[in-house]
Amino acid sequence: MVTKTFEISTGGRDQMLDITDKVRRVVADSGEKDGMAFVYVPHTTAGVTINENADPDVVHDVLAALDRAVPWRQDFYEHSEGNSAAHVKSSMVGCSAAVPIVDGKLTLGTWQAIFFCEFDGPRTRKFIVSVGR
Ligand code: ZN
Repeated sequence: MVTKTFEISTGGRDQMLDITDKVRRVVADSGEKDGMAFVYVPHTTAGVTINENADPDVVHDVLAALDRAVPWRQDFYEHSEGNSAAHVKSSMVGCSAAVPIVDGKLTLGTWQAIFFCEFDGPRTRKFIVSVGR
């Protein structure tokens, strides 16, 4: 198992950053031909998801829909830090993603990319990539 931790700086409150190339690099460096790439985000107000990177409108629409579904201010929120929406979004998208590796390559579909999801930025964040079998 090869594990690498990355730092990432986010630039807005809600943002999806394409980290596919970084994951691909860990896969290539690992030499693993058949296994799994596992991406983990160790934060409670961020996450990771796989979606389309070809049309940037998709990222816009995903973030806008999450924001519509989970407004930043709600009178029923009790969490004193004031970022309950970010916690909810984090749980909705999840904090991990796994992609099978076949013949040394991620088996992502043509339009798929791996996105780090920021929901309470801007901040300096981390994500962890493990590659193994
Ligand atoms: Zn909080």
